[in-house]
Amino acid sequence: MQIAIDGPAGAGKSTIAKKIAATYRMTYLDTGAMYRCIAHCVLNQIGDHFDNEADIVRIARATVIRFEDDQVFCNDQDVTREIRTPLVSRHTSDVARIKEVRELLVAQQREYAKDHAVVMDGRDIGSVVLPDAELKFFLDADVRERAQRRKKELDEKGNGKTLEEIKNDIENRDTNDRNRSEGPLIQVADAIVIDTTGKSIEEVYEEMKLHIDEAHR
Ligand code: C5P
Repeated sequence: MQIAIDGPAGAGKSTIAKKIAATYRMTYLDTGAMYRCIAHCVLNQIGDHFDNEADIVRIARATVIRFEDDQVFCNDQDVTREIRTPLVSRHTSDVARIKEVRELLVAQQREYAKDHAVVMDGRDIGSVVLPDAELKFFLDADVRERAQRRKKELDEKGNGKTLEEIKNDIENRDTNDRNRSEGPLIQVADAIVIDTTGKSIEEVYEEMKLHIDEAHR
């Protein structure tokens, strides 16, 4: 079984995807972490040169990404925390718009789905990575609420960004993700759309569980 979860930044996709994977004993694949790894390697190796596509593609080809429980390894280095910094978040859409980078990561994601029952979250899962997934969800929420959720997470890590700054970052990221030509963020026709505004993680999870159980009956 394959479950695709797409949606804009901060819609709660990864938290819910992990819960679903645990409940149904499926494997969770965080595709955003893979794009984040490439952005992190680019920053480390050539700095802030996100207009240098040839070098970015070269770096992406040489990067081996591995997941182990909740940890993410990039060329055998634990980058679990590093890939979540605001700097990496801001630049990930710069690498994610490059066709060759997407082709490379999409191929790895499909390969992974071949031998696992997977829950994958991202932007192009239902449209490109797993177009035949049995269940496709599109999680959305009002941008102010998504920014508030992100602020709470960042505050817990000691980051002092204002709500307005976080909201701007999210809006910029969504605009980039929606408007790129390769694998843009879209809501596919066969996706179950859930507006998570005003809902708790638990409520959204229960709603999704109903659909999954229904599909399995
Ligand atoms: O999901 P997350 O916020 O970690 O994703 C970070 C970025 O990675 C997104 O803003 C997007 O640019 C990119 N991404 C993507 N396709 C995916 C998953 C993430 O382009 N399937």
